[in-house]
Amino acid sequence: MTITRFAPSPTGYIHIGNLRTALFNWLIARAAGGTFILRIDDTDPERSKEEYVDAIKEDLEWLGLTWDRVERQSQRLDRYAEAADTLREMDRFYEAWETPTELDLKRKKQLNMGKPPVYDRAALALSDEDKAKLREERGNGVWRFKLDHDRIEWADGILGDISIDAASVSDPVLIRQDGQVLYTLASVVDDTEMGVTHVVRGSDHVTNTATQIQMIEALGHTAPSFAHHSLLTGPQGEALSKRLGTLALRDMRAAGIEPMALLSLMARLGSSDPVELRSSHDELIAGFDITKFGSAPTKFDAEDLKPLTARVVQTLEADAVADHLNAAGVPTEAQPAYWSAVRGNVATRAEAADWWPMFQGEVTPIVAEEDRDFVTSAFDMLGEPPYAADTWSSWTSAVKDATRRKGKSLFMPLRLAITGQPRGPEMADVMPLLTKKPSL
Ligand code: GLU
Repeated sequence: MTITRFAPSPTGYIHIGNLRTALFNWLIARAAGGTFILRIDDTDPERSKEEYVDAIKEDLEWLGLTWDRVERQSQRLDRYAEAADTLREMDRFYEAWETPTELDLKRKKQLNMGKPPVYDRAALALSDEDKAKLREERGNGVWRFKLDHDRIEWADGILGDISIDAASVSDPVLIRQDGQVLYTLASVVDDTEMGVTHVVRGSDHVTNTATQIQMIEALGHTAPSFAHHSLLTGPQGEALSKRLGTLALRDMRAAGIEPMALLSLMARLGSSDPVELRSSHDELIAGFDITKFGSAPTKFDAEDLKPLTARVVQTLEADAVADHLNAAGVPTEAQPAYWSAVRGNVATRAEAADWWPMFQGEVTPIVAEEDRDFVTSAFDMLGEPPYAADTWSSWTSAVKDATRRKGKSLFMPLRLAITGQPRGPEMADVMPLLTKKPSL
């Protein structure tokens, strides 16, 4: 049974980087007919907000990334306390009192001496007396997990064989001075108790994974399979972290980006398979292969979502954009013909009705001075609406005979005069929809 989870901290809106994690885990679960857990990592009561929990669910629902159950870390604190006790009994957990400033100083000294800035375990040498004194002076300390100084190895689903020397990693703090359990421990307890089989997350978690594997094993469990996807960068390779705020999923939704455009791009970006627009979640699932992803940073350009979105919109039927057409006053009976004429020239659903005013004669014709006589006489040769499907071809061939213009110099001035735009729907489709005779 495959069980995966997406574990956002509800301290902000989810963005494109989070989506990559959510999507990979969702795809793995769905491809295997397994379970996808939405785990809310809300161990930090100050920074976690209910509004973000709701927003995360809304964003995932928008994309159709359905979950089978929700778990909340804030409701499982007793489980984490129990695990902490177990580690304490095993002598794998110790209290340390260094202040952040003291730790910083130690790190600087180590770096100056050309050594890696790893916590020196000074707290392990404290006598009971020392500890009592520190507790009296400084209150509670933090609790650190005592790593075994072996190599930690795993076969990563994306990065391949990983081997990390535990001595090069600081003993991780699992409980803060104020007693708050940190994600590193909570995640281990959850992943094992919930039977999570596959963990996919960003490569910024590789060191976490190393320490978590030791914790999982210390607690008597077997580690799940891990895969770490590369981090996203901007189009020029610049770090995306600072811009992630502007790459929130809800902003993309507001900008009219289509879910299938976003999902199709993210299911392939950074893999050796090409990006292909998918029309359903099933197609996405069938075409996903995590082994095709590489470890190099992945360039993400939000601009790429626009043509993909336009392609999705162009496949929609009129009823999919009916809300927009109704709001703009397009009569129901005119909607199918209108939409099939314009959909190839619309980039988002919100633009669906943008061509409608032109069909009502609300248009500013564009006429170059040297074309004015030509257009005037061409319009003289056009009858009154309604126009038929062949009006454009019969009219323009008559105009051609009369004026000896042909090709672009024949068609373009007429298009510009009728639509006020150099590009747009096929004129043969435009004519039958015009409610007024075009004029200058
Ligand atoms: N809450 C963690 C994060 O958002 C979860 C990481 C994980 O998937 O284990 O970074």
